[in-house]
Amino acid sequence: MTDRVDALVVGGGSTGCGIARDLAMRGLSVALVEQGNLTHGTTGRMHGLLHSGGRYAVSDQASARECIEENRVLREIASHCVEMTGGLFVQLEDDPDEYFEEKLAGCRECDIPAEVLTAEEAREREPYLTGDVKRAIAVPDGAVDPFRLCVANAADAAEHGARIETHAKVTDVLVEDGEVAGVEVEHESGPGKRNHSLPGTTEEIRADHVINATGAWAGRVGKMAGVDVEVRPSKGVMVIMNVRQVDTVVNRCRKKGDADIIVPHETTAILGTTDVEVEDPEDYPEERWEVDMMIETLSELVPILDDARTIRSFWGVRPLYEPPGTGTTDPTDITRDFFLLDHEDRDSLPGMTSIVGGKFTTYRMMAEKISDHVCAKLGVSAECRTAEEPLPGSEDFSVLRDYMDEFGLRSPIGRRSVQRLGSRADDVLETTDPNPTVCDCEAVTRAEIQDAIDGSGSDLNAVRIRTRASMGNCQGGFCCHRMANELHPRYDEPTVSEAWDELVQERWKGERHALWGEGLSQAALNYQLHATTMSLDRTPEIADFGAFDSGVETATDGGERTTGSRSSSGPRSDGGRTERGRDGD
Ligand SMILES: Cc1cc2nc3c(=O)[nH]c(=O)nc-3n(C[C@H](O)[C@H](O)[C@H](O)COP(=O)(O)OP(=O)(O)OC[C@H]3O[C@@H](n4cnc5c(N)ncnc54)[C@H](O)[C@@H]3O)c2cc1C
Repeated sequence: MTDRVDALVVGGGSTGCGIARDLAMRGLSVALVEQGNLTHGTTGRMHGLLHSGGRYAVSDQASARECIEENRVLREIASHCVEMTGGLFVQLEDDPDEYFEEKLAGCRECDIPAEVLTAEEAREREPYLTGDVKRAIAVPDGAVDPFRLCVANAADAAEHGARIETHAKVTDVLVEDGEVAGVEVEHESGPGKRNHSLPGTTEEIRADHVINATGAWAGRVGKMAGVDVEVRPSKGVMVIMNVRQVDTVVNRCRKKGDADIIVPHETTAILGTTDVEVEDPEDYPEERWEVDMMIETLSELVPILDDARTIRSFWGVRPLYEPPGTGTTDPTDITRDFFLLDHEDRDSLPGMTSIVGGKFTTYRMMAEKISDHVCAKLGVSAECRTAEEPLPGSEDFSVLRDYMDEFGLRSPIGRRSVQRLGSRADDVLETTDPNPTVCDCEAVTRAEIQDAIDGSGSDLNAVRIRTRASMGNCQGGFCCHRMANELHPRYDEPTVSEAWDELVQERWKGERHALWGEGLSQAALNYQLHATTMSLDRTPEIADFGAFDSGVETATDGGERTTGSRSSSGPRSDGGRTERGRDGD
């Protein structure tokens, strides 16, 4: 099968989906191919902070200005993906005054609204902050749902005629007569929605211009075209707590170190992060000490974190880039700016552009810049409209308020569904069929699950990212099988079974670092339930026990220590981490 488009976007993260939407809205024929689900890469593995820019106000003012600009745009065009929690930069008694003053001045220089709060005022906003608070700066940080936002961009691109292919991996870039002519794609189960059990196919998609938006993988796709794209992947860990201990984004107000942000996210709080350069964006160590360090260090800010339960941990890899010859050795010193690499100018290879670096918060701006560039190449004069046109679900924020009134806030289930769906709520929820709750923790009903299956086929991980089902406290223990049941009778038993196994495995992946105390009992219960009542132990590879970290860490005295429980762990080796000088994510 062959196809031909004006623009082909490789990568279904925030950047790729934003580009596909922008170009499709300008009238170009567009295809986007993503090797996994949308958000499979870094976008599905980030902290969820909608930056106000405060974080960069001292170290990188250009980025800070971009962040506040886009923060304002996303609140307008993606209201159902953003929770305006506000943020605090908290100074503890021992944190330097000079940095606090620099941060405040930096925010003001970058047009970031910033208000100084006394210790009492800060603790009034966030009662669980330590008594050790000296003062704080309040800024308009927010929490953003990367899954919802990415899917909304892809859905809007599709509504404007784009072809969106997930589970479609680019295996080669076609270079003909010294020019990029398209790509070769391997479909995991044929083109279109993913359907387990279908054999894969290979396809050539020809395009006037190929856009490499593969983030930390950009070097690999570059290589397929014979060009060097020197991405420096840098990993960071995040830990999800079982309740939302804070309602505002809490940042430590000192020069960036590991573990200095807590982001409230839906029913949870996410702690993060670290910054360690890795060789391979898909294969790097995920270690227990990293998880422990998040909790220990951030408990200095919010002490009850130390008593809370961890439900999951995950790692993401930053697609950092610096122009050749800069020679930075510490990844935390590499700029968070984005770069557009025109391979015609740079490598005498027309027909392809790469976009690397940047942040989730500025994805729309990155997409606008590269779309301007591609349009100029293709002689298209249409203007960008993505800063004004709301994303599907965000068209009319008052819809959300009306639904809140309609449900009288009596029904937390209705409220959660409406928050997720925004202005699409009527379309999805108006059903005459029974609409039971399928996922209790996240309050997701059958109607939402069925809507997601309409969009994504038999892939339950794609259903998960569209709805949040299985992402709550039980991590799918009580709902994975119910979600699988929703695939029947559209899909046959082997397809359902494969989709279910894949979901269970994905849930397990993030839990395996968080097993001690009550979390361990719960995981054991989940395993027993699934093994004894649903025979999920028939395929041992579902829970990949071999992927546990070794449980052994190097002690500072050079000996080995076995990590039995979080509270028993003592001082750690630095694990190769370095002191940092700039503000990271
Ligand atoms: C630990 C951490 C925390 C972060 N926190 C924040 C934050 O709080 N706020 C913020 O604004 N930013 C944050 N960031 C940065 C932000 O997450 C990234 O900059 C952003 O998500 C990058 O998006 P992307 O689309 O460029 O890359 P990705 O999301 O990685 O998308 C690239 C896609 O390309 C696909 N791909 C790769 N190779 C192929 C192929 N051969 N064929 C088809 N598809 C392919 C991948 O599967 C992937 O889905 C954080 C980053 C990290 C690592």
